[in-house]
This record gives sequence, structure tokens and C-alpha cells, in this order.
Amino acid sequence: MFDLTRIPDAVRYEGGVSRRLVLAYGAALAGLPLVTTRLAAADRKVVFENNPFSLGVASGDPDATSVVLWTKLAPDPTSPSGGMKTEMVAVAWEIAEDESMSKVVQSGISIATPQLGHSVHIEVNGLKPAHWYWYRFKAGDAVSPIGRTRTLPDANVEPESLRFAFASCQHYEQGLFTAYEQMAKDDLDLVIHLGDYIYEYPGADNRVRKHSGPADGKIKTLDDYRLRHMQYRSDALLHGMHAQCPWFVTWDDHEFDNNYANDIQEEQRNDKPKADPVDFLVQRAAAYQAYYEMMPLRRQTLPQGPDMTIYRKASFGRLAEFFVLDTRQYRTDQPNGDGLKPLSEEAWKPSNTLLGKQQRGWLDRGLLESTATWNVLAQQVMFAMVEISLRDRSGFSMDQWPGAAHERLALMKFIADRKIPNPVVLTGDIHANWVNDLRVDDRQADSPVVATEFVGTSISSGGNGPKEVKNLDKLMANNACVKFHNQERGYVRCVVTPDKWTSDYVVVEDVKTAGGETLTRASYTVEAGRPGAQLS
Ligand code: FE
Ligand code: CA
Repeated sequence: MFDLTRIPDAVRYEGGVSRRLVLAYGAALAGLPLVTTRLAAADRKVVFENNPFSLGVASGDPDATSVVLWTKLAPDPTSPSGGMKTEMVAVAWEIAEDESMSKVVQSGISIATPQLGHSVHIEVNGLKPAHWYWYRFKAGDAVSPIGRTRTLPDANVEPESLRFAFASCQHYEQGLFTAYEQMAKDDLDLVIHLGDYIYEYPGADNRVRKHSGPADGKIKTLDDYRLRHMQYRSDALLHGMHAQCPWFVTWDDHEFDNNYANDIQEEQRNDKPKADPVDFLVQRAAAYQAYYEMMPLRRQTLPQGPDMTIYRKASFGRLAEFFVLDTRQYRTDQPNGDGLKPLSEEAWKPSNTLLGKQQRGWLDRGLLESTATWNVLAQQVMFAMVEISLRDRSGFSMDQWPGAAHERLALMKFIADRKIPNPVVLTGDIHANWVNDLRVDDRQADSPVVATEFVGTSISSGGNGPKEVKNLDKLMANNACVKFHNQERGYVRCVVTPDKWTSDYVVVEDVKTAGGETLTRASYTVEAGRPGAQLS
């Protein structure tokens, strides 16, 4: 059970984190006397007036022998501090091999600090591969709910199957998180979240729910971002799904600011008032820190001011290699002033990038080194070069891969030339379901298919979508790469075996009232060794 005698170890351990914080934020914290003071502070018995585990528990970034366990103390999630005083609190944790927590295999103490919003990120090592575990936390007299997590298979084995779901875009005001209620019944090994986990906009009336925080504009400060994250995570369906299995998370734009590109804000492309560029990076540091605090991420992800390396890979044995990408932090400005535009010379400029040089090099190397059957890019914006026609305009989205057309073509050509086995792209961002066959240049319909893209719709963003998409025939006639398109809400559930990939498009019929019906609208498969999706 919980062993409070291990506090000194935990403090030494946490001391390492604080030294990194010193580097990151220049705070004047270091040295042994302080550690002693911190120990005394952490040892003090805390009493909570309300449940400090209101945000639930989570786990993430597993490998074959380790996983991150997460919680954040927040007896009052409607206050930026979470209702915590500015003192350190000892949080005990334990992980067991059974649901009733009787076979505890490891336990320890961590210190929740005000500097990191009283979040706790435990990296548990020495676990067995492909194994279910259960875990919980204790602070003061309060005990958290029990979460379930799972390690990945050993790197050398070829597992029979992988079951996971991917999701994105969960605007709190525009719909309920019913999709997660269904997902929790899907018996998944893991979840991948592709971003727009929160939205930065002020609250609006007459919606399903209302954002808290500043009413006069977008969120900007660390307090604002913390509050917004806590509002979202207080949702029982969302934190309930986090407790079901480990998640790999990455962000898109709204975790910080709509359609930002590295340090460039969208307001720089129009005549709206814009932030001072330095203030914008200070704001990015706040957004990234709040994101780190809220997510089950490894310590190596800890932000350094406005920089946070979140791209990483994960191996599901030899069955699947996941490359979790960040297409926001390093990108160049959207060409042609963003929006739907022709694939002009500006869009084809070789210097346009979504990945940045370093991430691109890392990705190329990782793809070459991979020994997996399926090679998966888990990322944000649509790869397929789809020409969208609206009433008054048509073109390609400059915020998506067509805005870095040269980089996109080079990457697809690399995958084709180097014969990377079974490439699959997973995408979020656009609040619609798509299945796309990817070619080096998607406009060359008679060239070979190189990869398959599954684009998952939003959990709630956009509210209930239309059952029938207007002018779908025209869209599909003009874009040979598109095999399926739908605009309902939901997520995508995938079952992967050595021979076959299956993607089920799960939709929620009504996200405006609780308990909306869910059903599988369509399923598409890819056979190993044969790129391209088929309706199943
Ligand atoms: Fe979105
Ligand atoms: Ca987005």
C-alpha cells in the first residue's frame, strides 16, 4: 500500500526536475538547503475540502517496459490554481497487476509542485511487455479513481493484433463528448489524440455548454490555459476514457492559437490587432506548459520556455511503428495568406515546411530504420491534395499539406522510392471523415497509390454535421484520391493485424443531447502489401 517513508527519494528525484525548471524559466531555485525545506513542506499533512482528483487519472506514452501515470490535484477546477495553495504536496502512487489493486508491483511518492500546477507525471519502469496494469494515487486522505493502462509488446515480437482509436477536435461548447462514452466500451489497447484538445476562444451564449475564462477575447495567460484545460478535463466522459487505457497525444493549433505557424499568428496575415511577437512567444510558453501539465507525457517533453519537443515514435512490437508528429511548432507561414487557394508557385515554394528540417530528418531516419509491418504517421492536417469547391471560392487548403506541396511530394516520393512498408497516415483537424488514397502527386490519378490516409472527424467541433454531404458526387469526381467523405461527429476505431488494417468510422448521431446513438457509418480496409483503401 502507500508508503510515505519513501519521500526523501521522491524529493531527490523531483529535485532533478526543478533544476531543469531553473534552466527553463530562470527561477532562483537550487541547492540542498532548499531540498530540505521542500521535504518539510511536502511532508505536512494536507487536508482537502473537496476531492482533489476531480480531473481523474490518465496514463500515456507507454513502451514495452514503462508508462507515464498522470494526475493533477484540483479540488476546485474552476480556479486557475485548481484550488491548491502555493505549497508542495506529496502524492503517493501505486501500480498493480489486478483491478482490485491487491497485487501491487510498484509504488512511490512524487511531489506535486505549484510550479507545474500540482500535476504529477510518474514514469514507471521495469514493467512486463504487453501487460495490463491498474494504478491510483493518494494525497492527504483522498484516494483517486483507479486507472487502467497497458504496456506495448516487446520490440521483437509480431503481435496478432492491435486495437486503438484516434480522435481530435473536441470543442466543449459545440457538443458533448458522447463519442468517448462509446470508445470506453471498445476494449482498446491505446488511444491517439491528434489535437484541438481544447479551443482557445471566449465563451459564447446559446451553445451546448459555455467556455469559462475571459469573455472578451481568446485565452492568453498561463492561468487562462490552465483553467480551460481543467474545464475540459472535468468532463467525466473525457477523463473516464483517459482512465481506460494509455493515450499518445499530440497537439494541433487550438491548444495555443488558431492556425499559428511557429511564431506567426494568424492576425499577422490580416489587419486585425496582433500581439507583439515577443508576447506571442511568451503566450506560446504558457500554452505549452499548461498542455504539458495536463497530459501524460514523459519528462523529456517538459517545455523549455516556448519550445517543447512533442514529436516522438512508438513501436507496437513489429506490427506497427507510430510516428507522432508536430506540424505546428516548426512550420513556415501558410502561403498565399492562408485559406483555400490555388496550388500556385507560392504553395510549391521548396522552403515551405510543416515539419521543419530536424523533424523531417528524424522522420526519414525512423522510416528507414523501421522493421514494422505498418508505418503510421499520426499527425494533424490532411495530406491528400483535395480541391474543395465552396459556393464562392475553390482551392486547396493552405493550412494543410498542399500549403507545403513540395515537402509533401518529397516525403511521398521518399516513402515510395525507399519502399517503406504499408504507410498509413492518420489525420485530424478538419472536422470531417475522409478516406484517401495517397499518391506522390494526388492529381495524377493514373500513378501508383503509395499510402492510405484515414482522416477522423471531430469529437464535437462543429456540432451535429449533415447526414448527406452537399455536392459529394462532384467532390469525388474532381478528386480521384477521395474514397469516402462524411461530416458527422465521432472517431475512428482501428484493428490492425499483420495482414490487414481495418478502420471503422464510428459516428454519434446527436452530440447536443446526452446519450446520443452511436453506430459504425462505414469500414475501410487496407491489405498489407497492397496500398489503397477498400470498402468492407
Ligand atoms: Fe479543430
Ligand atoms: Ca485545427
